[in-house]
Amino acid sequence: MLGELKAAVLAANVELAAAGLVTLTWGNVSGRDASSGLVVIKPSGVPYAAMTVEDMVVVDGEGNVVEGARKPSTDTLTHLALYQGLRGAGGVVHTHSTWATAWAQANRAIPVLGTTHADLCPGEIPLTAPMTSEEVRGGYERATGIAILSALTGPALEGVPAVLVRGHGPFCWAASPAEAVEVAVTLEEVAKMAWLTVALEPGTVTLADHIVERHISRKHGPDAYYGQS
Ligand SMILES: [Zn+2]
Repeated sequence: MLGELKAAVLAANVELAAAGLVTLTWGNVSGRDASSGLVVIKPSGVPYAAMTVEDMVVVDGEGNVVEGARKPSTDTLTHLALYQGLRGAGGVVHTHSTWATAWAQANRAIPVLGTTHADLCPGEIPLTAPMTSEEVRGGYERATGIAILSALTGPALEGVPAVLVRGHGPFCWAASPAEAVEVAVTLEEVAKMAWLTVALEPGTVTLADHIVERHISRKHGPDAYYGQS
């Protein structure tokens, strides 16, 4: 079942580790099958180097295992909440990558300070609101997904492909697992640059709107001209 998607999810998890975004097994990638709505996700706690296609776990929208002998990632219900709330998401990535997590732990959204960020998205990388003790003691993982979706309200956040979970780390998404990994890699670089920029010049102002708009439109707009046609 879903052999192609399982291979894509495995490859994306391996790529995430190869890109240096995960320590031990602190990261996971999933992919959603658009026609069935089923989600393929990394198994919990299995080292990346030892993972095979057979280890990938297929779950339904409620998190029930449909196929696979392994336990799915502990973050499965967060991934599922994101697929439910984000139109067009076909891949979700979670990491504790150092630079993005530093911003999450400092409880700071990442402002748009340069064109590297503007090429990724038009707005800041938002930070989730604090979670209540009821949310944490109850359905923690699903509540985390809802907190991420809540952080995305507002017109400036249209097209933002990542959120920092306060005190935790980033969740990223895109149309496919591979593209979601690319977002995670870009976010980590953006987070590193932003931290170094603020360290050099704490009074740095955000990039002018007209430059942000130009970078977004040339890469993602209807008349995009970035890359090869
Ligand atoms: Zn985590």
